[in-house]
Amino acid sequence: MQLKDGRVEGVSFTEARWTGGQITPTVVVLHDTASRLTPGAAARYLADNARKVSVHFVIERDGRVVQQVPVGVRANHAGRSHYHGRDHVNAFSVGIEIVNPGRMEAAPGGFARAWYGEEFDINTYGIQELRTEAHGHGLWMAYPEEQIEAVLRLLEALFDGCDALEDIVTHWYISPGRKVDTNPLFPLSHVRARIVGREEPAEWQADAAADDIDGDELMQVDTRGDPLNMRRWPSFNPNVIDRIPDGTLVPVVKAGSFSGRRWVKVAFGGAEGWVVENYLKEPPE
Ligand SMILES: [Zn+2]
Repeated sequence: MQLKDGRVEGVSFTEARWTGGQITPTVVVLHDTASRLTPGAAARYLADNARKVSVHFVIERDGRVVQQVPVGVRANHAGRSHYHGRDHVNAFSVGIEIVNPGRMEAAPGGFARAWYGEEFDINTYGIQELRTEAHGHGLWMAYPEEQIEAVLRLLEALFDGCDALEDIVTHWYISPGRKVDTNPLFPLSHVRARIVGREEPAEWQADAAADDIDGDELMQVDTRGDPLNMRRWPSFNPNVIDRIPDGTLVPVVKAGSFSGRRWVKVAFGGAEGWVVENYLKEPPE
């Protein structure tokens, strides 16, 4: 992806109806659409709606990107907002809407219900119940890796092509108490670290929160044939550093629980990384 004359090349462009004057963006604001997941539905709404909302980019769950406002033109995505002493963040930002249902509540039978009534199977969609200070309590849908990769590719293009850009923020950060997007499962620190070069706390935080495993315990990868993803830190966000073949014996370094799941840090291929404990078993005697 490459930015040229305010447009990202190779990305389809549909002009939004409600836009403003010229701007020089210095921050990127990330949003959730809080919408149905049907491809194209959120983009159609954002292109023209009675609330006069618009945004520069929409990213579908499968990673497809649509642009609706040129990067140097004002869009109406942030509403009442402030960033480091400045109000009206629309006047100096690029908005990216990520398709996600937003905050959900528990529904019977292992489902989560979105604000518009649709229910999602908690296991199928990787939905987690979490409370954070910024978001409050809710059930939240994980972002597919394809979608996060598309966010990263788009941000790389924007930061490459737009010298004034200096930060990436979320809607909840610039409109605290009023907005909760992006949801708590969004890998914000990872994305900021990759694009803006901020410190990545998740890695050392995971190490600090986990228990050391003494001695020389070996476990065996047990994935029924598939390689096992080894990750830089214990989450399903895009952080795979290697793939360990089924049946491999690996030394265990650390173990801990993160977001309600057991993870184990193992050594493989000259590096250390995190794998889901369920895919390890005791080695044969
Ligand atoms: Zn928003």
